[in-house]
Amino acid sequence: MTETIIADVTVYDGTGTQPFPADVTLRDGRIHAIAQPATHAPAHAIDGRGLALAPGFIDAHTHDDLIVIAAPQMAAKITQGVTTVVVGNCGISAHADFSAVDELPDPMVLLGDPAQFRHADFAAYARAVEAAQPATNVIALVGHTVLRARHLDRLDRDASQAECAAMRHDLEQALAAGAFGLSTGLAYGNANAASTQEVMALSEALRDTGALYCTHLRSEAGAITQALEEAFTIGRHAEAPVIVSHLKCAGAPQYGRSGEILAMMEKAAADHPVGCDCYPYTASSSTLDLKQVVPETPIKITWSEGDPTQAGRMLSDIAADWGVNLREAAAKLQPAGAVYHCMTESDVDAILAHRLTMVGSDGLPCDPRPHPRLWGSFPRVLGHYARERGLFPLEVAIRKMTGLPADRFGLRKRGYIREGYAADLVLFDAAKIADTATYDDPAQPAAGILGVWVNGTPTLTAQGLTGARGGTMLHRTTPAHHERIS
Ligand SMILES: [Zn+2]
Repeated sequence: MTETIIADVTVYDGTGTQPFPADVTLRDGRIHAIAQPATHAPAHAIDGRGLALAPGFIDAHTHDDLIVIAAPQMAAKITQGVTTVVVGNCGISAHADFSAVDELPDPMVLLGDPAQFRHADFAAYARAVEAAQPATNVIALVGHTVLRARHLDRLDRDASQAECAAMRHDLEQALAAGAFGLSTGLAYGNANAASTQEVMALSEALRDTGALYCTHLRSEAGAITQALEEAFTIGRHAEAPVIVSHLKCAGAPQYGRSGEILAMMEKAAADHPVGCDCYPYTASSSTLDLKQVVPETPIKITWSEGDPTQAGRMLSDIAADWGVNLREAAAKLQPAGAVYHCMTESDVDAILAHRLTMVGSDGLPCDPRPHPRLWGSFPRVLGHYARERGLFPLEVAIRKMTGLPADRFGLRKRGYIREGYAADLVLFDAAKIADTATYDDPAQPAAGILGVWVNGTPTLTAQGLTGARGGTMLHRTTPAHHERIS
């Protein structure tokens, strides 16, 4: 039996209510006791005075599907206090064998190389994660674009009825093997030809399971309102909770539309479980998309197969050097990755602060010059947005990354500091926690985090990463909460 006591620490329990002082005892991977601070702490206790203890952060939106296997120490996430990652977002997931293909369908390259996609089905992927023993827990969604790639000969068309049935069977098998839901990336070329009907037919597999429908909307630009309506229609049809991925107002014509967008979210949430995730930055990142190449959006190229020497440069400088326009330059750089400076601070503030919003990094772990959200999202919400800017109290910020996502995804006995719950915990200095990752130097660990436990395993201490890996694949076993979360 191993026991750890964190003495006289300020507990933020994940509910969003006021913190309280306590001695917290961990035993055999669980939170064993939460007690009034003793007058004299035992000699072996960790001194928590002046420090905050929160449930381990849940990264509600990641593309860590293959990095949890390839680099299971998960340094970019553990150093932020993240103890659980949700993978399989934006229509792309790793429950597929593409090891024989030359080029992955866009944007699967965000996850890894073709050779890393060597899982016959979802159960095989889950076993591979368990065998790798990652430092974080893993919650996996099933990607619609991957289902299409597995069952359609070409991706620029709608699926036939027979193909829909095959995709649905595939999804049902994955849900039976523990998947938490279906994700789509309808804005991407390889899913854009899918009709609403195709996704609705597929989503019927979610009914009565408690599994979620998570979506990178068909449009984040001018047609965002129609895209939101489509997402809500699919969710209602499937009787499945809807998560809108990385909600944002992207591109100059969308600036200032956050109030209108959030009003739509609230209206839909009045009679259906609806939520969203958001990363705390005014720039987005993905593969280079010609539709988003406009003069109003400064774009940095993070990698390019068309001309690798241009990585790290601004697209406008590349275009000027080459004497071509922005789109011609972008076309020559393909395939490529990009950071788009395409949002306003006030829209990010409004979306991040909203009660329906969880924190999701959307970090890209395979990008050689990743957007800083990969290493900085969670400390940035706590340091920059809560402490420095006062956008919300610290306990509310913590709820957005603990209890709220745990409720949304229907996690059992996680996401809160309660006796009997999994000992996924983060110990930090609320006065010092900060992101240090920048656009120019993105692979930087957070400041102010002094301890991280995953299922009771000490994974980070004040001295740094311990090398221990206590995470596991989480399987959806009980219906998710269907009650509306306020
Ligand atoms: Zn996405």
